[in-house]
Amino acid sequence: MSKETTGKKRSNKELKGIDRRRFLTGAGTVAAGVTVAAATVTSASSSVSKSASSEYDVIVIGGGFAGVAAARDSMENGYKTLIVEARNRMGGRTLKTDFEGTPVELGGFWIHHSQPFVWAEKERYGLEITETPGAMPDVMMMNSEGQLNTLTLEQIEEAIEGWHKLVAPGYEVLPRAWDLLFNRDAALKADSVNVAQQIEATDLTEFQKSYLKPLAATQVHGYAETMPYLELLRWNQCGGGSFTNLMDSVGRYYLQDGSDKLLNMMIEDGGPDIRLSAPIKAIEDKGSHVEVTTVRGEKLTASVVISTLPMNVLPSVSFLPPLPATVIDRGNERHAGSGFKMYAKVKGDVGNLLSVGTSTALTYVATCKQTRDYTILVGFGHDPQLLDMYDDDAVQAALRELVPDVQLLSTIAYDWNNDPYAKGTWCTYRQGWASKDYDAFSSESGRIFFASGDHGEGWRGFIDGAIGSGIRAAQRVNKLLGG
Ligand SMILES: Cc1cc2nc3c(=O)[nH]c(=O)nc-3n(C[C@H](O)[C@H](O)[C@H](O)COP(=O)(O)OP(=O)(O)OC[C@H]3O[C@@H](n4cnc5c(N)ncnc54)[C@H](O)[C@@H]3O)c2cc1C
Repeated sequence: MSKETTGKKRSNKELKGIDRRRFLTGAGTVAAGVTVAAATVTSASSSVSKSASSEYDVIVIGGGFAGVAAARDSMENGYKTLIVEARNRMGGRTLKTDFEGTPVELGGFWIHHSQPFVWAEKERYGLEITETPGAMPDVMMMNSEGQLNTLTLEQIEEAIEGWHKLVAPGYEVLPRAWDLLFNRDAALKADSVNVAQQIEATDLTEFQKSYLKPLAATQVHGYAETMPYLELLRWNQCGGGSFTNLMDSVGRYYLQDGSDKLLNMMIEDGGPDIRLSAPIKAIEDKGSHVEVTTVRGEKLTASVVISTLPMNVLPSVSFLPPLPATVIDRGNERHAGSGFKMYAKVKGDVGNLLSVGTSTALTYVATCKQTRDYTILVGFGHDPQLLDMYDDDAVQAALRELVPDVQLLSTIAYDWNNDPYAKGTWCTYRQGWASKDYDAFSSESGRIFFASGDHGEGWRGFIDGAIGSGIRAAQRVNKLLGG
């Protein structure tokens, strides 16, 4: 079962992912936003492809950022749109909650101006960003082979130089960061080795290797062995081709009022209908329309469906026509994002720090909030089997591997891997997938369309990728329906 876990001092479990005055947490359909009546406009009714008998023009499966972007734009294009969401909240793999008075994001968090889709949304709705202190730390530490050391300026420079050596072929392999296979031969070659292998094959000092392994493990949210070198290069090139730009892109700035604020503004803007607590089990293209069946057996119809189901969840839903076997196989295998993210409240002000570790349960810990009485740290680990987050002694021991003498007060985390509607964290393709499966991941036909942060070009595995995929799916739908 999915679970939000809290440690010593239990945190407030009320999730604030959505404004509850607006959205009912039942199975009924609710109109989200005042524009819904106006949104069912006639411009689309002139379309030859619309199904006259369907209640909706577009049904969007899933209420994460991909689904909300697709639904908003479909409404703006003039189509009566319904989002059907399995959970009793919107937001999918983004989840803002309260951690003893501090808002924290248990899922997707950081955004950046190098991420065009999410940044455009931030600008569109006039939202402010703020910074994670630990992204610009006063102190950097590293635990290597059980030894925790504070890094000197020279060592930090050496570490960064190591990164640049590791990703040196980035521009050649990915001359167009948003077109993964543009330089096909070079890309496929980079897809055939994993990051651990590439670190060993690169002329690096032992210190550089020790620094780069936990960094890669944090990026893939798994073992460095599970991250193809091509994926690491994609991160680097999307992040501007330099260590500093990349680190800023993926770990520094976040929406001041939370991911839920942006999500709510997109929902209100578009005004789609929303149905919560309605997991679907089947999607069937009937030729003239699409039929969606919920696990309760209810049938909903629309001219088209946009599925935003996470790739690891796709195999649990029945599709007609069936999904390509590759998509099912890869979904069952699961993408490489399988680690954990946690927040820890520790006693006193432990400083503004960033610490990484090899052979430790936590690969990355950074300061999120400093007060005189306590510090909030965000931590990432590559293997949930290495740390029981219900066990406070184990969590404190794991923290002490990266931050000396900390005294744990409480923790909070969310188990995305055992959540049936996520089955993983952020998506990184496994070795060989880009070579063998890329086309299948983007195939669609008839009246069933796909959008997900788990697939597509550019910032795949990020909020940006999710929004971009939703926007593009709405465009394809508009083309089919004759808008
Ligand atoms: C721990 C963690 C940290 C992350 N950090 C960052 C970060 O800092 N920055 C960043 O940009 N990205 C980050 N990400 C990634 C980012 O959150 C995701 O890529 C993005 O939110 C995915 O959006 P999506 O809409 O494609 O999928 P989802 O958000 O997963 O949405 C899919 C929706 O489908 C619903 N669904 C599933 N099954 C069914 C069903 N049978 N019937 C109906 N609905 C169903 C789900 O409940 C969900 O709401 C992080 C993710 C995690 C887990």
